[in-house]
Amino acid sequence: MRVTICYDNTTRRDDCGADWGFGCLVEAHGRRLLFDTGTKGGLLLSNLAALEVDPASIDTVMISHQHYDHLGGLPELVEAAGALPVHLPQGCPVPPCESGFTWNAGPVELYPGLHSTGTLLGLEQALVVELEHGCAVIVGCSHPGPDAFLRSARRIAEPRVLIGGLHGFRKVGRLEHLELICPTHCTVFKGRIARFYPGAYVEGGVGTVIEFD
Ligand SMILES: [Zn+2]
Ligand SMILES: [Zn+2]
Repeated sequence: MRVTICYDNTTRRDDCGADWGFGCLVEAHGRRLLFDTGTKGGLLLSNLAALEVDPASIDTVMISHQHYDHLGGLPELVEAAGALPVHLPQGCPVPPCESGFTWNAGPVELYPGLHSTGTLLGLEQALVVELEHGCAVIVGCSHPGPDAFLRSARRIAEPRVLIGGLHGFRKVGRLEHLELICPTHCTVFKGRIARFYPGAYVEGGVGTVIEFD
């Protein structure tokens, strides 16, 4: 699995822009899935260009939740990429673009090896990527709590990796079994997680590339 952060509150690269929001390209099981689309489509597309990701090479999109900082870039992405399957959380209104939409209420395998946890608290879904051993969990803001997503993922395999926004989550002891944690975007207690898990912590930001088998 390879994850490239393409939209985030911070950036590691001078040729990419930072903005409040989240998006990352997940390459796994022969798919190129864009998880969330940030706030501004223009910035998403210019960051993708700097990261040498052709929008037309993206074959599917998953939106964690309907907040503007995760869904905002979708219309411009679809314009650049062409219509493609978009996996939305339950209750998300139809986005203002022409594409093939599906809504994930409960847990579902979207493609072999790639799962949605289903929509927790009627708001947000996370992506679960099967690894050779265990799984990786990719989250948008974790409004239902990252531990709720990790619990859901455990039905598929033991989570080893957690990437994305953890919002105000403070019970960092619950992350102790993870081998890699990249808390980014809206995560309030990044510093605490970095101090608790110096071996597992990976700094996020646009341009971060995480490879994990
Ligand atoms: Zn957010
Ligand atoms: Zn949010």
